[in-house]
Amino acid sequence: MRCIDTVIIGAGAAGLMCAATAGQRGRQVLVVDHANKVGKKILMSGGGRCNFTNQVVEPKHYLSGNPHFCISALRRYSQHDFIELVQRYQLAYHEKTLGQLFCDNRAKDLLNILLAECDLGGVEIQTRCAVSSIKRLDHQQTRVSGDPETDKLYRFQLATSQGIVQCESLVIATGGPSIPTLGASHYGYDLARQFGLKVTELQASLVPFVLKGKLLALAQSLAGVSMPVSLSCRQQVFNEAILFTHKGISGPAILQISNYWYPGDGVQINFLPELDLSEEIRRWQHKGVKAELKTQLSKFLPKRFVVAWLDLPELKSLETKPIAELSRKDIDLLVKMFQAWQIIPAGTEGYKTAEVTRGGVCTDQISSKTFEVKSEPGLYFIGEVLDVTGWLGGFNFQWAWSSGWCAGQYV
Ligand SMILES: Cc1cc2nc3c(=O)[nH]c(=O)nc-3n(C[C@H](O)[C@H](O)[C@H](O)COP(=O)(O)OP(=O)(O)OC[C@H]3O[C@@H](n4cnc5c(N)ncnc54)[C@H](O)[C@@H]3O)c2cc1C
Repeated sequence: MRCIDTVIIGAGAAGLMCAATAGQRGRQVLVVDHANKVGKKILMSGGGRCNFTNQVVEPKHYLSGNPHFCISALRRYSQHDFIELVQRYQLAYHEKTLGQLFCDNRAKDLLNILLAECDLGGVEIQTRCAVSSIKRLDHQQTRVSGDPETDKLYRFQLATSQGIVQCESLVIATGGPSIPTLGASHYGYDLARQFGLKVTELQASLVPFVLKGKLLALAQSLAGVSMPVSLSCRQQVFNEAILFTHKGISGPAILQISNYWYPGDGVQINFLPELDLSEEIRRWQHKGVKAELKTQLSKFLPKRFVVAWLDLPELKSLETKPIAELSRKDIDLLVKMFQAWQIIPAGTEGYKTAEVTRGGVCTDQISSKTFEVKSEPGLYFIGEVLDVTGWLGGFNFQWAWSSGWCAGQYV
């Protein structure tokens, strides 16, 4: 049996950041992960280039049952701190769009920085290490020296596939269940429940929508077509690109709105966010434009999309109608179909493709300063396993860095 200061379950973004921070404070740290490699989500994120943070990170970029919970950690370890870290290692990176920072080369470069930081802290990492049980130890049995100055209080005992380990601090950094093939699991939630903590409703998020019936056929006929849109659901609006797919709709705009979507909710899409369509049509009429509606609309939208849209039963009668003859009612209908298109997605593609899990361990029971469970001294939860979900754009990794670093000061 081994006795260690701090055991961290999960060698992902949050776990490695926490391990490096605690190790560099002089704590003896063991990180265990059941996967064969560490940081698998880092490696596959951002198309292999990892969108590791964002130039602008604010609490509004996060969803949580307690929107204030993330504020303290994001302030104490901000995007600027992480940028300073990667600059120290001369990581080549660039801003892609909307403040999103990506590695120039490979996500592996970023993972190597975290591993180098772990090395500096003397952190030990065990992969292919499954944890079969965790129990809280009786305090009387686990004081080792009797000297209050140096005494260690081993509070937890873990049975792992690589032996029994006792530790003072136990950190759960097992992330969420998205992409199970990468080692993702529900383990953190099960463990939280074991210790009497609440877990909020979980849902695959930052995920494409699937459509059914005629909507699906429409999406399939447009698979591969992408365009900037303005998208809204539950009063939340995103201006980004949409992509039609063989299963439904995807693209950054859809992934963003999926964070706010609940089954049965409608989603409204404006395919011409920069245009007042009714004004524009009146201008065409005033100028006596002779071209077909299709030709005029194709100046602003992909032609395949315009053709498919004007072929919809609602718009079919307008397809060949001269622009001069479009009535007020016709224009209103065009505006409704191109600028306020309402759909109810049948669902999402689920955890197989989701980037994150919305919901998690309820933050009411966790200290926003130390990440320790208020009712369980020595037990900590960090990263995505908590009920804190970021927007698309580097915000989820920033949460992993911030929560990992803050907990690393105390574990
Ligand atoms: C395809 C994809 C792309 C993404 N791209 C981005 C992006 O570009 N930018 C961004 O900000 N976010 C992105 N994300 C989200 C981001 O990866 C996560 O939010 C982040 O990795 C969460 O960090 P974490 O440390 O909490 O969990 P993870 O990084 O998921 O780490 C959890 C670790 O725990 C281990 N584990 C799980 N269960 C057990 C168990 N029972 N025993 C032992 N170990 C266990 C896992 O193997 C894993 O190593 C992406 C996610 C995916 C899936």
